[in-house]
Amino acid sequence: MRWCGSLAWDEASGVDGEPGEGRFLVGRDEVAALEPALREPPERAVHTPSDAGVDPTAVAEALVAAARARGAKVRTGVRVTGLEVVNGRVAGVRSSAGAHRAARVVLAAGTEVVRLCRPLGVALPVVGSPARGVRMAAPAGLVRSVVAAPGCEAREVRDGTLRLTLPPGRDAGAALRGLFRGAEEAVVLEDRVGNRPLPADGPIVGPVTRDRALWVAVLHPGVTLAPTVARLLAEEVIGDRLVAELAGCRPALP
Ligand SMILES: Cc1cc2nc3c(=O)[nH]c(=O)nc-3n(C[C@H](O)[C@H](O)[C@H](O)COP(=O)(O)OP(=O)(O)OC[C@H]3O[C@@H](n4cnc5c(N)ncnc54)[C@H](O)[C@@H]3O)c2cc1C
Repeated sequence: MRWCGSLAWDEASGVDGEPGEGRFLVGRDEVAALEPALREPPERAVHTPSDAGVDPTAVAEALVAAARARGAKVRTGVRVTGLEVVNGRVAGVRSSAGAHRAARVVLAAGTEVVRLCRPLGVALPVVGSPARGVRMAAPAGLVRSVVAAPGCEAREVRDGTLRLTLPPGRDAGAALRGLFRGAEEAVVLEDRVGNRPLPADGPIVGPVTRDRALWVAVLHPGVTLAPTVARLLAEEVIGDRLVAELAGCRPALP
């Protein structure tokens, strides 16, 4: 976790309005002090000192390892092909490795939850929203905060490794060099388009069958909210008690 704050002057930053609690409008000099390698510090930016960033891949790997260490069985390279339904009740999943029985099933499969739930008559309003993530090797400390400039978001996820979010087709190296001095040696390590799950009305978390045998968790800020959502959902699934904090996130039951 890097508590590095953020600096934003992209279209979504609200740089022309009231910044809101915990956010501050800063001028060119302050931007230059916060990000000394910026070629052309903007006239105004929104500074949020409390913002932080993580390396989502490293977080996912750490969580899987921790679950395994606590006794979870992890199967990789196995595709869930459908739900196992016995006498009208979800009783597990079917996968490329066979059937897996379970008293309770939680689907946390991003956009795939729509297809998996459909045979039960559950229509989840979730679409895929493609976004391009690029990982680059660059001098450590080049980018200090989470920088959101028009057409390019950049942050350092570990010393010497940056993660950028860019529109399709934009040259990542050129975008970084255009923003920062000292990025000439930067090289692309990975360039991938991810399909972000985008529910129409915000996060969908909770049981999707009245007997609470099947649950879903699908949301757009799936990294930022994962710790909270996972903790609340675990309380519900294990404790058999729905918590008030998730009341606004319930899927419509068939
Ligand atoms: C460029 C980019 C920038 C982003 N920035 C942010 C950000 O700043 N903050 C934030 O919170 N979020 C961000 N996101 C979104 C975030 O990545 C998603 O919200 C998050 O990944 C959703 O997590 P998830 O586990 O629900 O789904 P996913 O990450 O989609 O994971 C689903 C998993 O289920 C597996 N799966 C799917 N179907 C099956 C099946 N049938 N059988 C077995 N396995 C299956 C997939 O292989 C995958 O591993 C960003 C995404 C991108 C692409």
